[in-house]
Amino acid sequence: MSSSKEVIYRKDYQEPNYVVKSVDLAFVVEAESTLVTARIQFEVNPKQDKNELFLNGVDLELVSIELNQQQLNANKYDLNERGLSLHDLPDAFELKTVVKIYPSQNTALEGLYQSGNFFLTQCEAEGFRKITFYPDRPDVLAKFTVTIVADKEKYPVLLSNGNKISSGDLNDGRHYCKWLDPHPKPSYLFALVAGDLDYIEDHFITKNNNKVQLRIYTESKNIDACDFAMQSLINSMQWDEERFNLVYDLDEYNIVATDDFNMGAMENKGLNIFNSKYVLAKPETATDQDFINIEAVIGHEYFHNWTGNRVTCKDWFQLSLKEGLTVFRDQEFTADLQSRSVKRIEDVRYLRSAQFAEDASPMSHSVRPDSFIEINNFYTLTVYEKGSEVVRMYHTLLGEEGFQKGMQLYFKRHDGSAVSCNDFRLAMADANSVDLTQFELWYSQNGTPQVYIRENYDAGKKAYSIDFMQAAPDNYKGDVAWQPMHVPVKLALYDNEGNPLPLNDAGDLQLTYELKEISQTLTVNGVEHQPIASLFQGFSAPIKLHRQIGHKELAFLMKHDTDSFNRWDATQEMQSQIIIGKYQALLDNKNYNCPKYFIESFRHILLDDGIDSALIAEAITLPSVKSLTLKLAKVDVLKLFDAKEWLIKEIAYQLEVELLSVYNQNYDSSDYRVNSEQVAKRSLKNRCLSFLLQSNKKEFAGLAKDQFIHAGNYTDKMTALSLLTHQQVDGFEDLLGAYFTEWQDNPLVINKWLSIQATIPASDTLIRVKQLMELPVFSMKNPNAVRSLIGAFCGANITQFHAEDSSGYQFLADQIIELDRINPQIAARLAGLFNDYHQYNDEIQHRMNEQIKRIHTTDGLSPNVFEIIDRAVG
Ligand code: ZN
Repeated sequence: MSSSKEVIYRKDYQEPNYVVKSVDLAFVVEAESTLVTARIQFEVNPKQDKNELFLNGVDLELVSIELNQQQLNANKYDLNERGLSLHDLPDAFELKTVVKIYPSQNTALEGLYQSGNFFLTQCEAEGFRKITFYPDRPDVLAKFTVTIVADKEKYPVLLSNGNKISSGDLNDGRHYCKWLDPHPKPSYLFALVAGDLDYIEDHFITKNNNKVQLRIYTESKNIDACDFAMQSLINSMQWDEERFNLVYDLDEYNIVATDDFNMGAMENKGLNIFNSKYVLAKPETATDQDFINIEAVIGHEYFHNWTGNRVTCKDWFQLSLKEGLTVFRDQEFTADLQSRSVKRIEDVRYLRSAQFAEDASPMSHSVRPDSFIEINNFYTLTVYEKGSEVVRMYHTLLGEEGFQKGMQLYFKRHDGSAVSCNDFRLAMADANSVDLTQFELWYSQNGTPQVYIRENYDAGKKAYSIDFMQAAPDNYKGDVAWQPMHVPVKLALYDNEGNPLPLNDAGDLQLTYELKEISQTLTVNGVEHQPIASLFQGFSAPIKLHRQIGHKELAFLMKHDTDSFNRWDATQEMQSQIIIGKYQALLDNKNYNCPKYFIESFRHILLDDGIDSALIAEAITLPSVKSLTLKLAKVDVLKLFDAKEWLIKEIAYQLEVELLSVYNQNYDSSDYRVNSEQVAKRSLKNRCLSFLLQSNKKEFAGLAKDQFIHAGNYTDKMTALSLLTHQQVDGFEDLLGAYFTEWQDNPLVINKWLSIQATIPASDTLIRVKQLMELPVFSMKNPNAVRSLIGAFCGANITQFHAEDSSGYQFLADQIIELDRINPQIAARLAGLFNDYHQYNDEIQHRMNEQIKRIHTTDGLSPNVFEIIDRAVG
């Protein structure tokens, strides 16, 4: 791990001094070490005309170095812990280096490392420099040829990018495979896999009539859990042809699943590497959500083939160019294949609780950041999810046709090159002959913009108007004054019977109003009575809306809004108002009763057979404590938690009969399928069950136990186990024990078992977590296990993480410090859990700060953890 904490600035970008014409890599893989020979053809970049070159290289043991077949004298290069500098170079030359690396000692899981009995790589963002000396930057694109040599029995499978061009046996029991990737690519898309793996195979015929061989590789014990992922891959290929007219460009597409992975998955050209969580699934061991996630992540990585690989990023500040766009594409894929409205609701729910929190935190950054210490810290919700909202706004402004015209121009201009977020914006603008200059602010200004509105109805003039006012986020950090954004407001207006009103002379019942000024007024004429507006339909912009709205208007929108997202949003707003009302009362030691209208409207939604069950399930899911925290200041988080619990119990007591009847109606005993109808029924039924268990009645615990025992699918089983455990119902320890015995050899299942226990809202949970850390199924070296146990306790167990004795905070700090020596990327992710401290009251802030400072003063922190914690101490 390097100790440098140097800040890198976007404004310092310079083109590379040399370009790479081609690169030829040879790997000799052995158990202890791997020998890497690189032959790189360099050519001077005439635009720079500098005859010196820096090659990144970290933790490499240099064995030999030759320039144009001549051994290079030590006075011709400088070597330090960051890489190799070469001087007085010819305009074109071949560099040959041989280095030795030690993959089995690599616990950072970046570069070449070991997982079980195979070796694999993760190069994005800057892992390739741990494999060989190279200009490890995304704007250097080259054709790669890769030869892998290894023992045939121990490592029968040898994979790299592109198409396999030859293979064969060598003497002494070894064999080799040679791969050629015809598409020039940056080093971060390089991949290699060597080991004993099984595969399943299928194929896809592209619309150009090319037959593509599709394989998913995994350890043989998991080979029966890959079918759903394969179908998802085929669906992705089909969908990208149909919706985006994008066709796959190699003869092979390989996916490899590993249990040891820092992130979700990686789009290496022709050789995707996946966290096994996003590949492996069988009905007995995966929930509905697992299946849906697999389809989405397989789609995401596949879609990167065009948005990321064929057109890539000029520098890492442009990361959202590929990630925001590809998240947008995978969200649309899921929306087209599953339920569009459920997908939108869930994405926005996530954005508002997690990305809005990031936007308000010390880590707040723009979609295109201006600086970083460690790029891995910027694979964030802002770059991914907010980035996707930014892309969605082009779609909202231009429509599907205009958006696709923009995409076509983008590929026409930039296929095969490394470009910027600006290039994407210009393609969208030029293809549609519109001016999107102001839209650039979505990339450059950090924080969540605020929009205040004031509504006015003039009965005499029969005119209704809305004043929109934009305001800067509280923590705007830019060097220049904040400027108003280009904000699409999708809206409709209803009369008091719920009929949509014409909004203009053309008679449009819905329109996208474009906000560009700091304040702007929209007037609609010919309105007979006070209307009700539905604003920001479908969450048409990632802003915080400030609107005074009463429960009558909310109930009206719940009933009449034609936009399903806003119908749902009205339920959430009403629920927030009640929980916050109770919270204030708790703070002030006052009484607060649940208003009758609330229970009535909740009942109405629960029993409405006009709404599809998926939307009912979403509507009865109360807002998260995280998203409620963001609506308040100086929060007493335990009281806010209590306020939410109180509302859950009110609902459970007052609507017991209704909840039970909806539970029974949605009990489905047909064969398990992952289709939107079945998924909706299960999610509605299970949400009813979770309310029912809150009333602490024996009969409902019995109901959950029956569900656990008789469930024909894993979603129902897991939900029941988790509810019984969280309520600590008699006998829950036995259920957990039996479950462990049955599944101890399946890490994905065991990780869920760890998470369920880590989130028990009880005072002995931290002790339990520490005991679970001693089990052989847990390892600090395994990111999934760390996330499932430590991440779940600190990120999702509100009462115990925020325990008043600070034991939760101390625990998190201890784990960050320990993990930082093993895996800095994962340690930095955990450190992010301290980032919301300033949302809480002074007393909590003080206790969290003590631990943040303790980390900050620890010697030898990685740049990863340092950057997060240094921003937190401020
Ligand atoms: Zn991605």
